[in-house]
Amino acid sequence: MSSVASRRPKLSVQEAGKFYDTPTGRTHALDRFSMDVFDGEFICVVGPSGCGKSTLLWSMAGLHALSSGKILLDGQEVVSPSPQIAMVFQEANLLPWRSLQKNLELPFEIRKQAPAHDRIRGLVDRVGLSGFETKFPRELSGGMQQRASIVRALSVDPSLLLMDEPFGALDAFTRDEMNLLIEEIWLETKKTVVFITHSIPEAVFLADRVYVMSARPGRLSKVFDVDIPRPRPLEVQSEAHFVELVAEIKRSIEHKAPARAA
Ligand code: ADP
Repeated sequence: MSSVASRRPKLSVQEAGKFYDTPTGRTHALDRFSMDVFDGEFICVVGPSGCGKSTLLWSMAGLHALSSGKILLDGQEVVSPSPQIAMVFQEANLLPWRSLQKNLELPFEIRKQAPAHDRIRGLVDRVGLSGFETKFPRELSGGMQQRASIVRALSVDPSLLLMDEPFGALDAFTRDEMNLLIEEIWLETKKTVVFITHSIPEAVFLADRVYVMSARPGRLSKVFDVDIPRPRPLEVQSEAHFVELVAEIKRSIEHKAPARAA
């Protein structure tokens, strides 16, 4: 019988609301958004551009304060960045004057800890960057830089990995490769992942569940379970069930979008 503790969500977003006040006025970015994510789940959040996806993720990371509601990680309210939470952004954000190895050691330097050399080496090998440790970011392709940022995030062994459109700037082939890689790494590590994307096929390929947000202010519009067995090869994307699920999610977004002014 499972204990109460094991049924507690790893991450719980409870009625999250967010306003931005700027000199030009107030933006209502997030409206009573709730979600529960359980340990080891891979969750994708999709929605139209500007609907508040990044606001939601940054709040999960403790980088933005909510205006209302709360976010709990392992039952503790997230109010500031925590070593338990790592984030991967659309840009790899490697420091150009440091070698790959020195970039990968940076999170440890910031925490005044000795770098976890074995873990870094294992991850570098896992993502195919062995031999590039002394290279500088300008000598690495976009895909390699993003692999490095994934290593940097996982090197500190976080319990929650947040990914903000991490492959949005990559070409289609590299993006497919990265999606396969991230699925493999997730199957091996079973980290809890929240992944933001505006690509519905990417969300269906990666997720256990897809949360759909409405246009701004971002509300939870619908949740879709993805019951496609893993590991999922890239070819799964042409199977009827996959294509139909993508179409259904797309329809749910179009259906909710506000009518355009004439
Ligand atoms: P998404 O990630 O879905 O594209 P965002 O969370 O980036 O959406 O933005 C949601 C809304 O909040 C947008 O209208 C955006 O312009 C606004 N916004 C985001 N960040 C800020 C900020 N720091 N200050 C003011 N407005 C912001």
